[in-house]
Amino acid sequence: MKNKSAELAIVSNKTFSASTAVNLHHYDISSALQTTLEFDELIGIFCNKIQSSIPHNSLEYINDEFNMAFKRGIVARHSCCYTLKVEDQQLGELKLTRSQRFSKDELKTLESLLCCLIYPLRNATLFQQAIKLAYTDPLTKANNRAAFHDCLQREIKRAHRASQHLSLIFVDIDHFKSINDDYGHDCGDLALASVAGWLMDCVRGSDAVYRYGGEEFVIVLGDTDLDGAAVIAERIRADIESHALAYDMEVLNITASLGVSTLTGDDSPDSLVKRADAAMYQAKHQGRNRVCISLDM
Ligand code: GH3
Ligand code: MG
Ligand code: MG
Repeated sequence: MKNKSAELAIVSNKTFSASTAVNLHHYDISSALQTTLEFDELIGIFCNKIQSSIPHNSLEYINDEFNMAFKRGIVARHSCCYTLKVEDQQLGELKLTRSQRFSKDELKTLESLLCCLIYPLRNATLFQQAIKLAYTDPLTKANNRAAFHDCLQREIKRAHRASQHLSLIFVDIDHFKSINDDYGHDCGDLALASVAGWLMDCVRGSDAVYRYGGEEFVIVLGDTDLDGAAVIAERIRADIESHALAYDMEVLNITASLGVSTLTGDDSPDSLVKRADAAMYQAKHQGRNRVCISLDM
């Protein structure tokens, strides 16, 4: 589509001192970009809409803050790259490539089209930041219980749809109360944040770790069966045991008891959690610092 210009209707002579000439192409892009607050959808729309005016072989968008990487097409020799930001808000990086060099005029057009993207991207950033905040436990930086409920429902549906396994690990720190009692609440808080960090380092993505309550965490393992989850749980148990926590002049050793359950055909989120929790209690009864798996199906 070629760029066309058109006059916009004057809404009121008081608010518009002159008729506003608006480039229809920009208007079209801006309208389309207002339909979503998801980064990948925004970039996908932008990529489609600019293809006619700025032909390109590949488009890549990276936003480190949200761990997001969007890639479309096959990377070619010539590239142009923009760091997007508005005021102090970082909005990620966008890179276009193609086999011929981008002309000055094309870059100018692209830069003006990027202006259509900046504010929808900022809205998406603010929205995603708010979601992240609402779903993050402030002390441990793990996902919170609300995030866990949403995730588990979604993952159970996905596992059933794709006929995949889904497993849960329930982690409860051993004798945590005595850490608070012996060293104080601040030390307890430090221990909680440290354990959460070790858990996040242990599993594939930090997204899998949730603070369930007090000194309890759950880990959601997609596409993982009971045996696979038991291996991961044992690795986590050994990892927690291997760390030493320095507090003031003291060195603390922490252990945890873990329970593992796996999804069955008629599981609800509740029943899946209950079985992991029951297996964790079994680990407590057997002497703590161990993994038990739920064999109830
Ligand atoms: P067990 O081995 O049987 O699990 O014993 P425990 O002491 O770990 O378990 P218990 O349920 O008796 O105690 C949990 C303690 O965790 C009690 C509570 O005060 C403490 N706790 C819960 N949330 C926090 C928190 O955010 N910070 C701190 N410092 N302590 C917390
Ligand atoms: Mg507990
Ligand atoms: Mg405990």
